[in-house]
Amino acid sequence: MAEAAAGQERLDRIVELVATSMETEVCSIYLHRDEQTLELCATRGLKAASVHVTRMRVGEGLVGRVARNRAPINTADAPSTKGFRYMPETGEEVFSSFLGVPVQRLGERLGVLVVQSKAAREFSEDEVYALEVVAMVLAEMTELGAFTGEGEALKPRHAQQVLFKGVMGQEGAAEGVVYLHDPRVVITNPVSDDPEKECARLMEAVDKMRLSVDKMLSQASGDREQKEVIEAFRMFAYSRSWVRRMEEDINAGLTAEAAVEKEQTAARARMRDADPYLRERLADLDDLSNRLLRMLTGQGNDRGTLPENAVLVARNIGPGELLEYGRTLKAVVLEEGSVGSHAAIVARAWAMPLVLQATGITTEALSGDTILVDGDQGIAHLRPDDIVRSAFGEKLAMAEQAQQRYASIRDTKCVTEDGQRIELMMNAGLMADLPSLPTSGAEGVGLFRTELQFLTRNSVPRRGELAGLYARVLDAAQGLPVTFRTLDIGSDKVLPYMKAQDEPNPALGWRAIRVGLDKPGVMRMQLQALLRAANGRSMNLMFPFIAQMEEFLEARAHLTRELHRETSLGHALPETLKVGAMLETPSLAFAPRRFFQEADFISIGGNDLKQFFFAADRENERVRRRYDTLNVSFLSLIEKIVARCTETDTPVSFCGEDAGRPVEALCFAAMGLRSLSMRPASIGPVKNILLKADLGQVRSVIDEARDAGEQSVRPAVMEYLRRR
Ligand code: PEP
Ligand code: MG
Repeated sequence: MAEAAAGQERLDRIVELVATSMETEVCSIYLHRDEQTLELCATRGLKAASVHVTRMRVGEGLVGRVARNRAPINTADAPSTKGFRYMPETGEEVFSSFLGVPVQRLGERLGVLVVQSKAAREFSEDEVYALEVVAMVLAEMTELGAFTGEGEALKPRHAQQVLFKGVMGQEGAAEGVVYLHDPRVVITNPVSDDPEKECARLMEAVDKMRLSVDKMLSQASGDREQKEVIEAFRMFAYSRSWVRRMEEDINAGLTAEAAVEKEQTAARARMRDADPYLRERLADLDDLSNRLLRMLTGQGNDRGTLPENAVLVARNIGPGELLEYGRTLKAVVLEEGSVGSHAAIVARAWAMPLVLQATGITTEALSGDTILVDGDQGIAHLRPDDIVRSAFGEKLAMAEQAQQRYASIRDTKCVTEDGQRIELMMNAGLMADLPSLPTSGAEGVGLFRTELQFLTRNSVPRRGELAGLYARVLDAAQGLPVTFRTLDIGSDKVLPYMKAQDEPNPALGWRAIRVGLDKPGVMRMQLQALLRAANGRSMNLMFPFIAQMEEFLEARAHLTRELHRETSLGHALPETLKVGAMLETPSLAFAPRRFFQEADFISIGGNDLKQFFFAADRENERVRRRYDTLNVSFLSLIEKIVARCTETDTPVSFCGEDAGRPVEALCFAAMGLRSLSMRPASIGPVKNILLKADLGQVRSVIDEARDAGEQSVRPAVMEYLRRR
């Protein structure tokens, strides 16, 4: 198979050889023409005229089923096997026995290799295994383009234009070149005649890999949980059966790297159907395999320098890693990831276009490919053709025009056409967000999330360090108001150095203020850091996730204690200190009137509030978008909160993601909210719509839709906006 020859000739040789050595009448190779279609590319035993003519869909017939299930089918009685389909055009007599194995590479389907014979017999385990090894080599050769190119029937892989439909993580459009976080390793030589040498190479790499894992274990912090995870990882690294399987592959004719990849491919295929626990463990194996591959091929170790206009493409990425890449990235496209994840929060803070759940992109994209990222629609065009590219260019130009419009209204106060003043604030969480304060036109920071400093470190940050950071935030704000929110951890925000709580429903579990009140040490340290940072300046503080009045009173009592302590230490107290609560559970909307009197202000955390109101996990893509924010139930809840705050003259604002969506922001304002806090990049678009709005009219449209029994007011509001 390593012989040099043109693609078709090589395929013809392969089917010839396999049929002869396995003593079957038929051997055929089917390769993917596109994601859903297989094409007969070479055969011995079927009609020659059907080559490059016969095609089938994934899932269709036995061949299609092998492709779909990524698993062999081995039967002595093909015609009565489920899914069998007779294909007269191939001149297929009725062959009784059928053995088909998938040609796949690291989870990517490339084709199917089949042998058939008239005599009814089931193939032995050894035969199945041998055919799988051949399929593995075929996969590597396909990847290398051995059967494609000039004059060949199939287009080369990784050359076609592909559209990825994912999920919007952050709006914005960008054109750039792919930079793979984990570049794929290319195996140039999958076969070897020298198993001894290959086994020795494998063992050398395995030893090195084990050493590095041991080192990792010895460096792990004292934390038991972390040690347990690495210990499990180490068990895999020392797994004898895994190494034995790879040695068997080498003895069957593969090189060490091809053997590693064959087992990795098999593990990935198993991973698809595994339960979450097993999937995690198999992910360990995947990681170890990648280490081995990098050692054996010497590829992929070098992070290199980022190209200009780099678009980061990764399976998933943590906030720390993303921060390391920095703001120079043009956009980020992830194969997994969720809207509520911290990497997403970082990308949003940077207003960097982000597409999530772009299934298959890490296997399809190559570093250096052109890519167009459309964050608004959650899509990415890989290797776009000229038509797509020029249409995208227009989109970029329009976005540029819109930016100019936003820049022109940056210093305009936000007053609606009917004279309502709306305060527009920005959300922040990193020092790096602060430069956006003057450029976005925000009137202050309505929500400073303090978790990120805790999440990106290996241990609890020190008080002095935090005080320094908070002071720099206040410096950068230059007298504009800043509202700091105390630590909001738990649920998805798990601190690496905090014992993970094994909770059945973490979003409903021990999180945010509940942790702060039960174990006040960290919260008090943070309050001290905040007071020191203020050093006499004015400041607003709020507590996250208050579900009932008592929690607010208790948290504020901690603050009062810290204020006394600061006084007794002779430190300056803030000139004014407003203390508020985040309203993130429906219960708080129905709290006693006294709560609204006691709180200096209330900030609606719409992300959490909405998830609890509709009982729909904000991180679960399946249910997250099922319930519209402009659903009358939700708007009525907002109306209720505004009314209760008005009764007691308590300032109220909204700081969830929805505040940054122009139509939602407009409706919130119509329901009576006069302060909205959002991502800096949203301030321009939101102000733009509000300046032209007549809130009285919008409110009438909403009320009419409500009275008419609509479920969502969105259609009516959109229709009204279109008319305007
Ligand atoms: C919210 O829940 O709306 C909110 C602003 O807080 P976070 O997104 O940090 O949970
Ligand atoms: Mg929240």
